[in-house]
Amino acid sequence: MSLVKAEGLFKSFGKTRALDGADITIRAGEVVAIMGPSGSGKSTLLHCLAGIMPPDKGTVMYRDQDLTAMGDSARSELRRTEFGFVFQFGQLVPELTCVENVALPLRLSGVKRKQAERAALDWLAKLEVDTVADQRPGETSGGQGQRVAIARALVTGPKVIFADEPTGALDSLNGERVMHLLTTAARDTGAAVVLVTHEARVAAYSDREVVVRDGRARDVEFAR
Ligand code: ADP
Ligand code: ADP
Repeated sequence: MSLVKAEGLFKSFGKTRALDGADITIRAGEVVAIMGPSGSGKSTLLHCLAGIMPPDKGTVMYRDQDLTAMGDSARSELRRTEFGFVFQFGQLVPELTCVENVALPLRLSGVKRKQAERAALDWLAKLEVDTVADQRPGETSGGQGQRVAIARALVTGPKVIFADEPTGALDSLNGERVMHLLTTAARDTGAAVVLVTHEARVAAYSDREVVVRDGRARDVEFAR
């Protein structure tokens, strides 16, 4: 069954056509790697799927809800409750400790501090970074920071994690470790993962690859 289904997406920036009729389907619980050359439209596709950027044309369905038809506040509520986000850099609040960063999405949903921080600490432990709980993001290594960001994306129990080059700033060993922890944690919770990468060794952690070329997406079906 499809969880996120986008059809006929077009998006231009001035004269640049970033998406040119892209279609993609994400099923519940699967890990999908969006691959393709630089500038092919991968990030734009991810941002449209995640309801961060409106396409010029086309629809993005999340279950039975059309993200392109709903109002801004309904869409941000859906993002907050159903989606988690991991980006390449700079997503943690520098003034907060790592455990406070992970607890933040729960605090914003009205969960009491003690309970939110307990859940945050559990997630930090699952991602093997509970040792940096009381440090600020600037004091951790890049790989540790990415694991904290993943813990923060998972703490609310999302149905889909959207990740844009989540290992882009890491060396290959740390990148593989982060992919292993991300995909294991997502499988444990049943969350789907949609990630943009240009690295085959990162895509190797996915169930399925979708290749984007010139703003069009093509499903590459194969069993791993
Ligand atoms: P990829 O992620 O595959 O590298 P992007 O989706 O980032 O590709 O970009 C696709 C094309 O759209 C590129 O030519 C890029 O320069 C352009 N583009 C993306 N975002 C913007 C923007 N905000 N303003 C102008 N051009 C953009
Ligand atoms: P990625 O490495 O994930 O493909 P980019 O470096 O292409 O990301 O883009 C980072 C951000 O800058 C994105 O939000 C994208 O929309 C925006 N962007 C990309 N290309 C351009 C551009 N030519 N002009 C303005 N913004 C852009």
